[in-house]
Amino acid sequence: MRIDLHTHTNFSDGTDRPSELINKALSQGITTLALTDHDTIGGWDEAREWLRPGLDLVLGAEISCQTQDGISVHMLGLLFDPSYLPLQEVLAQTRDNRVGRMAKIIARMNEAGIEISLEEVHAQLSDGATLGRPHLADALVAKGLAKSRDEVFADWLANSSPFYIPHYSPTPEEVIQLIKKAGGVSIIAHPLASLRGRVVDLESFDSYIAAGLDGIEVKHRDQTPEQQQLLFDIAAKANLARTGSSDYHGTGKMNELGEFTTDPDQWEKLEAKASDRRVIRL
Ligand code: AMP
Ligand code: FE
Ligand code: FE
Ligand code: ZN
Repeated sequence: MRIDLHTHTNFSDGTDRPSELINKALSQGITTLALTDHDTIGGWDEAREWLRPGLDLVLGAEISCQTQDGISVHMLGLLFDPSYLPLQEVLAQTRDNRVGRMAKIIARMNEAGIEISLEEVHAQLSDGATLGRPHLADALVAKGLAKSRDEVFADWLANSSPFYIPHYSPTPEEVIQLIKKAGGVSIIAHPLASLRGRVVDLESFDSYIAAGLDGIEVKHRDQTPEQQQLLFDIAAKANLARTGSSDYHGTGKMNELGEFTTDPDQWEKLEAKASDRRVIRL
């Protein structure tokens, strides 16, 4: 079995359509695939439509959170009921807020003499997709002002850069509880990936566990073996599931589909905690 529980499509900042992602997963021998676009379930229908026997589809989202101290946290929610409106309302609010936030980032860049417009950024976005810094990066690349998303993040858009502006986000505890109320399971994504900016300290896991956290993404390319060991130990001690995943973004990132995977026993443990059997299998 090859289980990859964290992937993106063009419904957020990935570059593959959900149909392409499904085809790739099947042709590359993935047996269980979770679709986890940022702050949206917009790609679910297309993924379901293109599913074929041989692949188990797990529908989910990667939900943006922010701690009281302003640290960005990504929470994977899997197998939740999409008709639970309070969760959908939070996702919609985050998506809305990302639009005004992008205008502010662009205004700052314009002030600094970097010429880019909101229209040029929107031209990089598929209909209805969650807007993010990667689309701004794509617009700068399209204009010849940078070579790649990576270069833009390194030079201009890092969380520590003067152009960085956060968007509205609920706290990790709120999101964990919302996912639970929607009958799903929550896994904190790449919690120690410090390349992206400040990360939570290990003590804060107590509060996430108390809120009902189900799993920790341990194996991920942005976490060192030492960081993975720290997370493994926390998960083992608190009896949380441990996952490994690719965080595949198509050509938007180097990450290869299935480059890290989740052990079947850990996935079973997670799946058993959802309120209903929502894995889709033809
Ligand atoms: P945002 O959600 O707008 O704050 O942007 C964060 C997103 O940027 C995350 O989903 C990452 O996938 C993406 N990202 C962060 N660093 C990089 C990078 N160096 N290259 C490409 N994408 C990145
Ligand atoms: Fe992303
Ligand atoms: Fe993430
Ligand atoms: Zn991701």
